[in-house]
Amino acid sequence: EHALQAAKVASHLNAFIRLTPEVALSSSNESSFRYQRRGQRSPLEGVPIAVKDNYCTKDIPTTCASKMLEKFVPTYNATVVDRLIHAGAVLLGKTNMDEFSMGSGSVESFFGPVKNVWSKDFENDNWRITGGSSGGSAVAVASGICFAAIGSDTGGSVRIPASYCGVVGLKPTYGLISRHGLIPLANSMDCPGVLANNVDDCVSVLNAISGPDDCDSTTIKEPYPKVELPFLDQINVEGIRVGIPEQCSCEGLMPEVRDTWVKIADILEDNGAQVRRVSMPNILNSIYVYSVLNQCEVASNMARYDGVEYGHRASTAASTEELYAKSRSEGFNIVVKTRILAGNYFLLKRNYDNYYIRAMKVRRMIFNDFKQVFEKDGIDVLLTPTTLTDAPLYREFVTKSNRDQCALNDLFTTPANLAGIPAVSIPIRLSSNCLPISLQLMGNTLQENLLLRVAKWIE
Ligand code: GLN
Repeated sequence: EHALQAAKVASHLNAFIRLTPEVALSSSNESSFRYQRRGQRSPLEGVPIAVKDNYCTKDIPTTCASKMLEKFVPTYNATVVDRLIHAGAVLLGKTNMDEFSMGSGSVESFFGPVKNVWSKDFENDNWRITGGSSGGSAVAVASGICFAAIGSDTGGSVRIPASYCGVVGLKPTYGLISRHGLIPLANSMDCPGVLANNVDDCVSVLNAISGPDDCDSTTIKEPYPKVELPFLDQINVEGIRVGIPEQCSCEGLMPEVRDTWVKIADILEDNGAQVRRVSMPNILNSIYVYSVLNQCEVASNMARYDGVEYGHRASTAASTEELYAKSRSEGFNIVVKTRILAGNYFLLKRNYDNYYIRAMKVRRMIFNDFKQVFEKDGIDVLLTPTTLTDAPLYREFVTKSNRDQCALNDLFTTPANLAGIPAVSIPIRLSSNCLPISLQLMGNTLQENLLLRVAKWIE
C-alpha cells in the first residue's frame, strides 16, 4: 500500500528515482521472522524508510542522479543500509537528488528536478524547489509516505531541504555514522544524515545507524552512547547557554526568518536559558573555503569515472584517451564538469599554496571560532537560521548561476561541515507564503544528546 502511495508521489513530485517494493516486501518478511525469534521489537521494525540514491544498495541500481551511473548496480550495501535492514526497516525506494550531490536545489538531477510538496501552483515552473541535494528524501518524509529518510550532508544537503520542506534534518558529528558505501562528494566533509517528522523519530534512526565501522576508518572508534531523550515535560532549558552568532544577521536574510530567529531566542530566554550574542569572525568565510576544498576533493573523487571499470562508457572511441574524454563528457552534467575543472585548477602546482593550503588554514580558523564559543565562552548550542529565505520558486532559482545559488543557500550550513560538528534544522512556523521557516542548532562535537534535547524542546 505504501509502495503504491509512494508511486504517486514519485511521479508527481519526482521524489524517487526508483521504488523498491521487492526489498520492502522481503525485508518486512525477514524482520517479522526476526521479531518472532527475538520476541522483542526494534523501533524501526516494519517501518518504511527511503534512502538517497548515492548510497549503495546490493543488486539495486544506485545512480547518484547521473547518466554516468545510470546502469550501475552495486554488489554490496552501504553500512547505513545494512544497519537499517538489520533493524527491521523497510527500504521503500531510492530518492532523487542533485547529480553527485552537487547543488542546493535538487534541480540538477539527470532524472529531472524534485518538486516541493508545499507548492501552491505546479504549472509553468511556478512550483517551489525542495532545496538540495537530498530533496527527494525531504519530500518522501514531508509528503507522509515515509517515517524517515536518509540523506547526505556535505555542506547542508540534509538541512537545506529539511528547512524548505518543513521536516527535521540532522547532520551528526563527522564520523558518528559510517560513510562506507556512500558515494563520495568531498570525503572530509561528507556526513550521512537523517530526515524525519520530529526529533524523536530522527533519534530512532540515528541510534540504529550510528557507531564504529571497520569499513570506514574515519568513524569514531569508541562506541558512543546512544542518544536518549526524556519525555518533553521532563525537558527544560533553564541554564542552557545559547549563542547567537552576530555575523549570521546578514544581508539577504528574509525579515520573517529574522523575526522567527529573534522570537525563538526570546522564548528560550523567557524560559530560563542564557541567551548571548557571540562573535565568530570567520564563519561567513565558510562559503569560500567550502568552494575551494569541495572542488579539490571533487576533482580527485571524480577521476574514478573513466568509462573503463564501471559507469557510462562512450560507444565509439579511437583511443583510450578518447574513451575517457567522451565517456566523461557524455556522463557528467555541467555542474560536475565545472567543479572538476575548478578543482584541478586549484590543485595545480603553481596554485596549490594559494588556494588549497590557504583554504585549509581558514578552515582551521573557522574550527577555532567554534572551539572558542563552545570551550572558552561555555556556549552549549548555537542558534541560527538554516536558510536565508523560505523555499524559492523554481523559475527564479534556475535563473541565477549555480554558483550563486549554492553560495547563498549554504551560508549557514557549511560551517558545521568544515568543523565536523553536529547540527540540526527544525521547522518552526509558516511564512506569509505558506511555506516552512526553520532554524538551525549547532552543538560541540559528539554533543548530540544536548543538541537534540534543546531541539525537541523548541519543536
Ligand atoms: N550545496 C553544496 C554543494 O553543492 C552542498 C551539497 C551537499 O551538502 N551535498 O556542494
